[in-house]
Amino acid sequence: MSIPLLPAAVINASRQHAVLLVDDEASHLGVLRTTMLQQGYRTFLATSGERAIDIAQRIKPDLILLDVVMPGVDGIETCRRLKAHPATARIPVIFMSARTDTDDVVAGFDAGAADYINKPFKLGEVCARVRSQLLMRSDADSQQQQAERLRLIVHGMDEGLMIIEANGRVQYSNPACERHLGYEHSELDGATLGQLLSPGVTQEYLAYFAAWSADPETVHPRGAREVQIRRRDGSARAMDLTLTPMYAGEPLFIGLLHDITHHKQSETALQRAALLDPLTKIANRRHFDSFFEKEWLRAIRSGEPLSLVVIDVDHFKLYNDKLGHAAGDACLRKVAAALESHALRPTDIAARYGGEEFVLLFAETGAETALKLAESIRAHVESLALPNPRSSTSNWLTISVGVATMVPTQRDEVEAFFVAADRAMYEAKEAGRNRVVAADMRASVL
Ligand code: GH3
Ligand code: MG
Ligand code: MG
Repeated sequence: MSIPLLPAAVINASRQHAVLLVDDEASHLGVLRTTMLQQGYRTFLATSGERAIDIAQRIKPDLILLDVVMPGVDGIETCRRLKAHPATARIPVIFMSARTDTDDVVAGFDAGAADYINKPFKLGEVCARVRSQLLMRSDADSQQQQAERLRLIVHGMDEGLMIIEANGRVQYSNPACERHLGYEHSELDGATLGQLLSPGVTQEYLAYFAAWSADPETVHPRGAREVQIRRRDGSARAMDLTLTPMYAGEPLFIGLLHDITHHKQSETALQRAALLDPLTKIANRRHFDSFFEKEWLRAIRSGEPLSLVVIDVDHFKLYNDKLGHAAGDACLRKVAAALESHALRPTDIAARYGGEEFVLLFAETGAETALKLAESIRAHVESLALPNPRSSTSNWLTISVGVATMVPTQRDEVEAFFVAADRAMYEAKEAGRNRVVAADMRASVL
């Protein structure tokens, strides 16, 4: 959108206008030439129609003063040929003639003349008419230039642009719009809003169009809204749509379609990030808690057992002290990956609960299976063979694991379930670490 739209004055100020003078009488040409030079124009001369056409095609003058009566190709025919050729069609032609019969004048205009001057000419009038034609010509040029720039913008922009009639018919769509929606060139023109949007949204927009068409004053323009827009292949795509009303002989609505795929992607990336522990990239505590709550309620309904595994890394302070905090971080990542590789079903989850403490939840899993899972997790971490030189209980980095299993009911407290698993984990620590202890669910904590 950075193409500057220059005002007409700026575009033309730097240019000296070129005027082609055509007359078979050399004396007429001399007078005209002097006058035009005095006005500050550049002049080119031709004494016949053929020569005029030839010069015009090469130098593309801004204006042609053309004698009507000439031997050979006369002025009327010359004008016709100039107008028939794309290179010269837009050059304004002013006829000069002593023949002032209405028929002659009409014939001149029919041939494409812009103006008609009577001979013998009054030089002041010639100057005024020339000036006025040049002005009109530069206005037309700048309008054409503006239109061309707008066309370039509309064609080159990334946003889809549609012009929609009040009845919902698409009058125009730009290439980006067709690209977004998977249509070929101009295929969308004539489509209806109903083909692109859901019936509900279409009805809303049509009601808005009707209200605005009836009374533009009282209806406020709508801002952008996210819509599901139907592509040519039938698939849906979420895009932002802004519809701005305008009046151009009839009420029309400019639809701007904005691609929000990358917003959507970063939205899901953000959502994912909010659920993950930044260090280990496994679930964080918040994600675990909400996952746990759902599974807990589901277990109450289904009567299926739920198993909770609480893990704490053994002598991790010593590991950090000996090998450094960065090595400690790398180690936590490896442990996390090992744990997560055991949470395979959609109803399983492994999470970093804080520091060097991890939890796993296995839904629909009884005590015996949970114990086996916990043991294979413990063995897996040990088999990573991460040296922990200062540990008094193993050469390697190990974990202590507590497992609790229950079939929750409405009367049970979530907290008691965690306390039971935590107690089991501490028992594992006390019993020498690098081991799994199952909670005694009949104990009084519950
Ligand atoms: P125990 O076997 O009794 O669990 O011994 P421990 O040393 O693991 O226990 P303690 O809880 O005293 O120490 C935990 C250590 O874990 C302390 C802290 O430096 C380390 N730690 C906690 N979070 C991180 C972390 O994100 N990165 C690193 N590198 N170390 C961490
Ligand atoms: Mg700890
Ligand atoms: Mg520890």
